[in-house]
Amino acid sequence: MNKYQVYTLSNFTKIPQLQSFSTTAIEAIKVVGNVLPFKVNNYVTEELIDWANIPEDPIYQLTFPQKEMLSEGDFQKMAEALTANYKKPLLKEVANEIRYGLNPHPAGQQKNIPHLDDTPLTGIQHKYRETLLFFPSNSQTCHAYCTFCFRWPQFVGIDELKFAMKETELLVAYLQQHPEVTDVLFTGGDPMVMSAKNLASYLHPLMEANLPSLQTIRIGTKALGYWPYRFLTDKDADDMLRLFEEVVNKGYHLAFMAHFNHPRELQTPAVEKAIKRILSTGAQIRTQSPIMRHINDCVQDWRDMWRQQVKLGCIPYYMFIARDTGAQDYFAVTLEEAWHIYRKAYQQVSGVARTVRGPSMSANPGKVQVVGITEINGVEVFVLNFIQGRNPQWANRPFFAKYDPKAIWLDELEPAFNQPTFFFEENFEEALKVS
Ligand SMILES: *Cc1c(COP(=O)(O)O)cnc(C)c1O
Ligand code: SF4
Repeated sequence: MNKYQVYTLSNFTKIPQLQSFSTTAIEAIKVVGNVLPFKVNNYVTEELIDWANIPEDPIYQLTFPQKEMLSEGDFQKMAEALTANYKKPLLKEVANEIRYGLNPHPAGQQKNIPHLDDTPLTGIQHKYRETLLFFPSNSQTCHAYCTFCFRWPQFVGIDELKFAMKETELLVAYLQQHPEVTDVLFTGGDPMVMSAKNLASYLHPLMEANLPSLQTIRIGTKALGYWPYRFLTDKDADDMLRLFEEVVNKGYHLAFMAHFNHPRELQTPAVEKAIKRILSTGAQIRTQSPIMRHINDCVQDWRDMWRQQVKLGCIPYYMFIARDTGAQDYFAVTLEEAWHIYRKAYQQVSGVARTVRGPSMSANPGKVQVVGITEINGVEVFVLNFIQGRNPQWANRPFFAKYDPKAIWLDELEPAFNQPTFFFEENFEEALKVS
């Protein structure tokens, strides 16, 4: 198989495996799909989803909207709008009303937009000193959409900014003024939806600028999980690989930040071949995923993922905690449970897979790792640690929060030992100004 067939709201009823679905099941997909992003392709439906195990199948949960992803009230609201045959603009209004109730901009993302002199650079986010996120305007989509995606406002069109920018020129100018940046991370959406030619139009000027401080070019992508044929049989697959080689030969570290959510995504012949081809260019592949109920909330999945990744030559990098946005209630795993799963899986892999770090929350002050739960002087606490901080000096600083078995996110936690605030809250406003 290599012809790319995309399914969205407008044609998903043609998916062969859906022909046995009841009308109610199809309607539910329509209702939720009108609020959250929905897109799959024939690789996902034919090679990844196990249709004998619906609706529990993890890849089905990952890509197909589920009724329970919306509250009953929200579901009814959208169902009624569809039954009443609302015209598009009105339907969108109803959808947006629901969307704005789902925290579309978590972790202060809109606060991370940097400036070049007085011009806001809407296609860049600069939160951590060394690493700049770059959102090429041509990569604001993906080969399929994850139902849990925290970038969902971009796909459903409620983000006017879209964090996107055309000009690499501005990116280069910003980097010239910011020699502290060593890494540029291309993100989106998924930069691997771009043609090789398109990606080259960003990469060439970036490399030609000969920025002495730039070391690593990263590409955040889920193409290996959703469309490995991107690197095998797509028209410009070979051009893409040659472009990677070019980056490596120019002396940059090319880091593929690959998003895999379930071991099954690492088991098809296509993904194995694609990984081999990418590694043969001299690029490295690091892997990351959030931990989510209904998808990968078990020890075995993580153990198997990390083992298989190492076997294929990839480097396990991050386990994230599902963000506080979109259908978070549906996917939420408590901090305690995430830590247990992380720890038990970690115990079952060898040292070469223990490059992974987590479970980590990408929260407003930084990436906060749940190191564990312990007792200090008879008080049960969470031990937390900054993997990354808005203020670089926070990194690797452990701190304590009151143990809370129900907590799923940092903002629900309280400082332990009767402290009035966490240490980073004292100079938080200051740190915001620095970035
Ligand atoms: C995770 C993240 C990065 C990259 O952090 P690393 O720890 O270097 O991988 C950069 N910017 C933002 C906003 C992030 O959330
Ligand atoms: S691949 Fe990434 S950006 Fe695309 S839908 Fe999934 S989580 Fe969102």
